Amino acid sequence: MVQLKSPREIETMATGGKILAATHEQMRKSIRPGISTAELDRVAEEFIRSHEGATPSFKGLYGFPASICSSVNEEIVHGIPSPRRVLKDGDIVSVDIGVYYGGLHTDSARTFGVGTVDAQTQKLLTVTEESLEAGIAEARLGNHVGDIGAAIEAHVKKGGFVVVRDLVGHGVGQSMHEEPQVPNHGKPKRGAKLAAGLTIAIEPMVNAGRAETRTLPDKWTVVTIDGKRSAHFEHTVAVTADGPRVLTR
Ligand code: MG
Ligand code: MG
Repeated sequence: MVQLKSPREIETMATGGKILAATHEQMRKSIRPGISTAELDRVAEEFIRSHEGATPSFKGLYGFPASICSSVNEEIVHGIPSPRRVLKDGDIVSVDIGVYYGGLHTDSARTFGVGTVDAQTQKLLTVTEESLEAGIAEARLGNHVGDIGAAIEAHVKKGGFVVVRDLVGHGVGQSMHEEPQVPNHGKPKRGAKLAAGLTIAIEPMVNAGRAETRTLPDKWTVVTIDGKRSAHFEHTVAVTADGPRVLTR
């Protein structure tokens, strides 16, 4: 069932989303060669909990053991932070974070370069982030979920990369994952119609090589099938009469 949010609920999500955006800024400041993904998890959890009433959404969600997902290089999503996973110069790390505040969740991810990354990797990050913006621009009244996916996929293709099809964006709010699904591909004017009060996580996952994925034996970490790199950018967006409102900027 699609749950539309009241203007008041959207304001509450915007407050949680601000905490989430600030958490990503903490990640940006912390990420450097030599830091472990477990240390990033600790920084994020402490920072979120330092805000009255805010908790990390992911901790314990479906049994996930940490406050962030940290996915390095060929890992697409759902990487588990570990003290043994130490970031190196030239790596990329996708950090996915959820914040629960005032009874509502927000969800946002960014991929960061560690130290200096090569030009092709930088292009992957840039194209993925741009494709998120292209998708957000379509989150308008009267459009459909397919308009978002079509815009994302078109931008990614133009950049010479591919979108992941095995994983999708989603409604978000009272629960971390609500209807509708928001794929990163699609056809304009197809899929669920976008109504005022709909809050969705738009989250292109973009691969440098093939689109196919597999899940590691830890049952969480999703990686590219060919070992090439993947990037992930995500915002929680409210569809409003005034256009798309990004709640996690
Ligand atoms: Mg997320
Ligand atoms: Mg999400």
